[in-house]
Amino acid sequence: MSVELLPATYERDVVALSIVVAIFASYVALDLARRMHEQRGTFALLWGCGGALVMGTGIWSMHFIGMLAMQLPIEVGYAPGTTFASWVAGVGVSAIALGIASRQRLGVAALVVGALAMGAGICAMHYVGMAALEMSPGIVWDRRWVAVSVAIACGASAVALLIFFGMRRLRGIKARAAQAAAALVMGLAISGMHYSGMAAAGFVDGSLCLSAGGLAGRHLGMMVLVAVVLLLTIALFTAALDDRLQARASRLADRLSDANAELQRMAFLDALTGVPNRALFDDRLRQAVARVERSLERPSPFGGGKLALLFVDLDGFKPVNDTFGHAAGDTVLRQVADRLRMVVRSADTLARLGGDEFVLLLEDIGGLPDAVVTAERIKRGLARPFTVQERAVRLSASIGIVVFPDHASGDKLLASADAAMYAAKRNGGGNYAVFEAHMQQGASAQLELQQDLREAVARRELRLHYQPKIDSRSGRVRSVEALLRWQHPTLGLVGPAQFVPLAERFGLIAGIGAWVIDEACRQVAAWAAEGRRMRVSINLSAHQLRQPDIAARVGEAIARHGIDADQLVCEVTETAAMEDTQTTTRVLEELGALGVELSIDDFGTGYSSLAKLRRMRAHELKIDREFVADVARDADARAVVDAIVRLGHALGLRIVAEGVETDAQRDVLRELGCDELQGYFFARPLPPEALLADEVHSTDGGGAVGFSPSVLLDTLS
Ligand code: C2E
Ligand code: MG
Ligand code: MG
Repeated sequence: MSVELLPATYERDVVALSIVVAIFASYVALDLARRMHEQRGTFALLWGCGGALVMGTGIWSMHFIGMLAMQLPIEVGYAPGTTFASWVAGVGVSAIALGIASRQRLGVAALVVGALAMGAGICAMHYVGMAALEMSPGIVWDRRWVAVSVAIACGASAVALLIFFGMRRLRGIKARAAQAAAALVMGLAISGMHYSGMAAAGFVDGSLCLSAGGLAGRHLGMMVLVAVVLLLTIALFTAALDDRLQARASRLADRLSDANAELQRMAFLDALTGVPNRALFDDRLRQAVARVERSLERPSPFGGGKLALLFVDLDGFKPVNDTFGHAAGDTVLRQVADRLRMVVRSADTLARLGGDEFVLLLEDIGGLPDAVVTAERIKRGLARPFTVQERAVRLSASIGIVVFPDHASGDKLLASADAAMYAAKRNGGGNYAVFEAHMQQGASAQLELQQDLREAVARRELRLHYQPKIDSRSGRVRSVEALLRWQHPTLGLVGPAQFVPLAERFGLIAGIGAWVIDEACRQVAAWAAEGRRMRVSINLSAHQLRQPDIAARVGEAIARHGIDADQLVCEVTETAAMEDTQTTTRVLEELGALGVELSIDDFGTGYSSLAKLRRMRAHELKIDREFVADVARDADARAVVDAIVRLGHALGLRIVAEGVETDAQRDVLRELGCDELQGYFFARPLPPEALLADEVHSTDGGGAVGFSPSVLLDTLS
């Protein structure tokens, strides 16, 4: 049966518009799909719902505008209810599409099912939309065109999905370009489906559009168009805004996670060397001890199962730090850590406890011999010189070994290893010592000493003894050096070597140093009151030079006791004087400005730079005892002293040799041109009253320079 069909024409502009809308809607749809894919949780759902609405409306409006483009010679309109249903279908398709887009991967099954579902949705939207025309008699369908439109709908959906998953990995400009190209393809496909679907529809001549009074007309079309473009644009802007917020949030999140990682690292690793710190070490030690204790209950037939701690403390690190500065010291510590790392097995723990103290935890060892082997390896590892500012510096380490469970209980391991390390240090360093019970007593004795030392100033237990410096030519006493003593209630007279380092370690040196400064000035004033003009040297440690107010204290003491500043000499060890910290440099300058003389003590042991020596405006160089001891029998020592004397004199410095014990030494030193001599050969450090008393007994070795107690009295007056 052939029926006469009404000629359907299309308004070209509106068709073009509908295609543009299709492309734009596709672009926005892809954008939303991508965004939804990148989100998680509630946000993904929100984007999903909003996206489905916007995208559905966009695609649907393309269809609606496309329908409005069709001109029939009869009046047409669209039934609102059915039109709404077609919109719902549009939103439904979009929801399906976004649902698939949010999947992690697109398998073949998902592609096929997705494309069919989307195609069905698009067809539903289209043909429900057509139904809104409510033609009577009904539309005559050309099955082939219908099939083509369905095929295009499914094909376009498949292509859209493939494109979407394909471009997902792209970023930035590339992603935008791919998205635009994809939108073009999709938009054209959707339009193709629409117009092939339209081509399938035949309107019987004489038929009536029952919904002619419904939605119709150009104005409606324009309104839909404007509303939709607005909607799509807003969606795109919101998306762009969200992008920026996302980027900010993810940058913040990145930074937060970086900071977190850094915190973690800082909490458990030593910042300087990157090896575990005290906290992590304590934890590992606790666990290791627990493991050993468990294995003791069920001994293994293969032995093993013990652990050892090796406490490693560098010898002579402080002078390196003091001389080259802290940055160089840090470099050395890093090198030390690297070398220690090479010694340990991967199962062992190397940690830095602070300063130049490292500790090694060896697990599952057979016993002491294994620990000793490692200690030997450490010794060898550290024997090679270190490079500091292009110079070779040699260091060694004192190592304390303790084995668990042989030597100490689990909670005393670290303290025991520390005590053993101290024993190694007391033996001269550069070697290891295995823990023995009496060492622990040494450690607790130190603790008691430290507690007593806190009271020493208040209890007036500190003393200054004075050791003369003798003019090498006239044999007269030029000045005396104040040397600190501690009159301990039970231990008797304790020397500074035993308690000054302790005082520095426990923050007591400032108070003790202040007492020394005051007492020395008081003594100078007291002698002056008796008519004796005598210069007094005091010793300032590197630690004290780092106290910013030390020069001010010296100045106050001078003023308080009304003495001349040049009656006071500050002896500063060479290593301390060469320290390159701002405070030290400033303190030395301030002391100079006070008019106090500066003496470089223990000269020859450090790493002086000539330039620094010149700048420092010192008055005196004291040649270290080490060279003086050898000067009478060793040509090398003599050469060193000779060089120091020439150098010092060239710089206008007074040269003092300390630790002179024999007449042979005295003779050589005098010959080499030392200006002043100091040592047991002339006098030991003495209490001030003994210094002046007649019964002073000097070890004057025959009085070759005519030094005697009476001379001492003479020169003091
Ligand atoms: P120093 O300033 O180099 O003092 C010389 C040390 O050598 C003194 O030891 C002295 O008693 C000793 N001595 C002097 N003549 C001879 C000798 O002929 N042979 C030998 N073998 N030794 C001799 P002392 O009094 O035990 O002082 C040791 C170090 O303690 C001093 O070395 C000084 O650096 C430091 N010191 C002393 N008093 C103070 C003080 O008041 N404050 C600070 N911060 N350090 C001090
Ligand atoms: Mg001294
Ligand atoms: Mg000295």
